[in-house]
Amino acid sequence: MHPSPSFAGRHWDGSPRISRHPRSLRVAATSPSRLLRAGHSSRCRRCGHRTDVYQCTDQRPIALHPAELATTHVPASCRWHLSSGIAHPHGDGSAWCRIPHAVVCPARTPTCPASPHLAAVRRHLAVRTRRLIDTSAFIPALPPAAGPPPRAVAAPARPVVQILLIRYLAPGPLDDIRCVAQTRHRHRCPRPVLTLGSPAGRWTLLPPGPCRGQLALPDTRMAVYDLGHLPYTEQLRWSAQRCPAHAASGAPDLALTDWQTFHPRLQPPTSAPAFRTRRHSNRRGMTVPHHALEITLTRPLSPAALHRAARVLPLAANHDTTRVMALVHAKTAHQAVRRLRRQLASRLPIDVITTHYPDTDHKILLNVDLPPAAHAVLTDAARRGAQSPERFAELALHRALAAYADQETDRLGLAVRQLLADANPAHLLSAVGHALTRLPESPTP
Ligand SMILES: [Zn+2]
Ligand SMILES: [Zn+2]
Repeated sequence: MHPSPSFAGRHWDGSPRISRHPRSLRVAATSPSRLLRAGHSSRCRRCGHRTDVYQCTDQRPIALHPAELATTHVPASCRWHLSSGIAHPHGDGSAWCRIPHAVVCPARTPTCPASPHLAAVRRHLAVRTRRLIDTSAFIPALPPAAGPPPRAVAAPARPVVQILLIRYLAPGPLDDIRCVAQTRHRHRCPRPVLTLGSPAGRWTLLPPGPCRGQLALPDTRMAVYDLGHLPYTEQLRWSAQRCPAHAASGAPDLALTDWQTFHPRLQPPTSAPAFRTRRHSNRRGMTVPHHALEITLTRPLSPAALHRAARVLPLAANHDTTRVMALVHAKTAHQAVRRLRRQLASRLPIDVITTHYPDTDHKILLNVDLPPAAHAVLTDAARRGAQSPERFAELALHRALAAYADQETDRLGLAVRQLLADANPAHLLSAVGHALTRLPESPTP
């Protein structure tokens, strides 16, 4: 007797063999939230219950109660809804809504007027918390104690960290900031962001730097953990809150980063009182705004040259050091650009300086240092047109850009007509859609 032939993909009895391959999840590059939908639940440190952490429209995290509730049971001020993974603080018109965990957390004072249903949910959670504590399954975190801080002043409980010229309030001591990446075992990476092997930041005394339109702060300086001298990639790693092992990995985030933008008015620098010193106030106590400026260089910079220039002004360079960013204190953007050129012209091969953010007219200020001959030609042409050299250059630039846009339209029109000569329009449209939606790093199918 011969055994019957076996087929790949079939069991001995002929039933199909189903093989399941583990699916790896990936976050779309266009996703408004950086988290995988499957895994960002957390636990309330005060009551031990599960919460779902989402990002609000202002990027801040909010912990929501994991279940949906009927809107009739929830006061309008407590209703939240989710859209594309972002939490919005109102209902979406449906019969169901989400609520912040703080509303029903039995370990906190209620933040909303309690409806009978919410009070019942809260009571139910309180009973469960009691049971968890009694069985030692949960140890509640102590509420922040009033009185002297337990840590030494040298290690502030919530330090201010400056990354890529922006200041953030850290979630806790520097050593405790944990990587947010997902490991291969689908858990959150336990490693810290600050490790012994990687370059460290520097503690510096800096003024709190009020924002535009705010009143001047008292004359203080605060301790800031400054990462400005670290390479751009290293600062990006800090900003993404990842350990060195996950710095460049494509692993998704399993939690939101804990950085909170530092507002000197809302969060006075109480974290390091020992560092406060007097400084000279500027005349009339007025605040002078900062301007974010970008310098395009004529050639890549050596690390030594960047280091020398950064001694004059903190600079953040891009990966190949052909562009650097700086923050300059000045009343107007024009003054800031001129000041930057004056301070750095001898140390950097500056090509063009531009303002990083557009002004209220959506315009960028462009500062070019023309050679004397070109400058003379420009001034002469402007005088003949009864215009200032700046206005003349602006109009010439607009004309050149408009001519370039026309040329591009003509060039593409011609190319499309040539393609259509021997292609079906529907196929061509589908091919264009395919090419546009494919991520640049994905292999060509
Ligand atoms: Zn709670
Ligand atoms: Zn990690």
